[in-house]
Amino acid sequence: MSDQLSHIDKRTTANRLQESELRRTAVFIDGNWIEPPDGRTIDVVDCYTETAFAEGPTVSVDEVDRAVTAAATAGSGWAHTPRSVRASMLQRVRECLDERVDRIAEAWAREAGMPIAVGRRSTAGLAFAVLDEMIDILERPHVEERLDRTIVAQEPVGVVAAITPWNYPMSQIAIKTASALAAGCTVVAKPSEVAPLSAFLFADAVADADLPPGVFNLIAGEGHDVGQALASHPLVDAISFTGSTATGRHLMRTASDRIARVTLELGGKSAMVVLDEESLEAAVARTMSSCFMNNGQTCTALTRLVVPERLVDEAAGMAAAIANSQILGDPLDEATTMGPLVSATQRERVRHYIRHGIQEGAQLILGGADAPEGLNHGYFVAPTIFSHVATDMQIAQEEIFGPVLCVLGHSGSDHAVAIANGTRYGLAGSVWGTDASEALRVGRAIRAGTVSVNGGAFNPRAPYGGLRQSGLGRELGRWGMDEFTEPRAISVGD
Ligand code: ADP
Repeated sequence: MSDQLSHIDKRTTANRLQESELRRTAVFIDGNWIEPPDGRTIDVVDCYTETAFAEGPTVSVDEVDRAVTAAATAGSGWAHTPRSVRASMLQRVRECLDERVDRIAEAWAREAGMPIAVGRRSTAGLAFAVLDEMIDILERPHVEERLDRTIVAQEPVGVVAAITPWNYPMSQIAIKTASALAAGCTVVAKPSEVAPLSAFLFADAVADADLPPGVFNLIAGEGHDVGQALASHPLVDAISFTGSTATGRHLMRTASDRIARVTLELGGKSAMVVLDEESLEAAVARTMSSCFMNNGQTCTALTRLVVPERLVDEAAGMAAAIANSQILGDPLDEATTMGPLVSATQRERVRHYIRHGIQEGAQLILGGADAPEGLNHGYFVAPTIFSHVATDMQIAQEEIFGPVLCVLGHSGSDHAVAIANGTRYGLAGSVWGTDASEALRVGRAIRAGTVSVNGGAFNPRAPYGGLRQSGLGRELGRWGMDEFTEPRAISVGD
């Protein structure tokens, strides 16, 4: 992947967001940009300057209905569009997205705090990997499965509502859209009202790619009204949601009224298990890059470092050294490695957890609830390391969603597995050990949807999703596409 992305590293920020991309008043419905009649907009706040720098529209239930109806009307035509044609349309979307990578990274930096240099590579990496995989699947010869005289027909589920959060605001829409369109479904997407700009840039790319009207629609607004109206619309056949466990639970209830399908990608409290001293350095480095990715605002972040009891202090020291080397600052600065959190609310939530961790008796090694030195604006939380954390402490159980690491001690691999599995989540996990077969045994025992053994890289072609309260259903690869199909049995007589 690094060779394919080298052209992106060489780009400059000359390709900056235009005024029209900062002041969004129209949504994309049935192939047209439409201004909602009441013209209401929501301010988008720059999380470094703490001032409104952009605005996004908000729609009424009328536009929700128009968008869903357009998607439903386009459904049959798109479902019957040959796979090769769907592939070439996704290829066009990819090309139109490629032109916008710089601006998407800029929007992401300002609306959610992702350091621009990391954001540029991450945007390009994940969204393009998923688009490429979908194109590849569609271009491969496709033979319908038969069981004796029964045809197993994989039918698209229909209209997909894609409801996404602010932390990876473009790639989450890209993943859901690429997979649903590849499966022959049509989409109505609703990005987070907190960070809508990069989702609108994705919609621009789809608009430029000239897909048939209604195949992809983008609406916008707050979750409790626009999101809720979309999720409860009778013509929505499947809800694909990424966000908090609380909202996921609520959407599952909403879907149950009409037995609509749900895919839920929710929170996590993922653990890195270290089996021996020789593995410590590599494992700590990996944990820190995961824990601090996107300033800690990543659902798969490894936020619990579980090491042999006697190594707790050493591990915490190594983690603190890496945390100390972070460059906090303006997320638009190419040198920044850690930006601010998305909002004042989120900063306060994370600081609350830190204060609580201190009260619970965890040992604070670095950071804390005070503002980092020298930064008098921006929603920053200092990189924070707790050691000697007990597994039943709140900071070891709940998703904090900020740059906070907990170091815990284990008395052997079975105890380590019990700690790793001892939360209500099961999104990701990691293990490092010099005995490769023991490391793999432990990796298999970690009950999480995505597990890395001895530094195994995240594979965007493999299934992604959570166990327990981390979610339901899978994204990415052919599993992500199958999530939007229904197998039907058609048995033919002699
Ligand atoms: P986060 O705090 O990570 O943004 P949320 O779960 O609150 O997580 O939001 C994720 C997405 O879900 C956002 O697009 C938000 O607008 C939407 N959302 C929130 N509440 C609802 C709801 N009741 N119905 C539908 N969508 C919602």
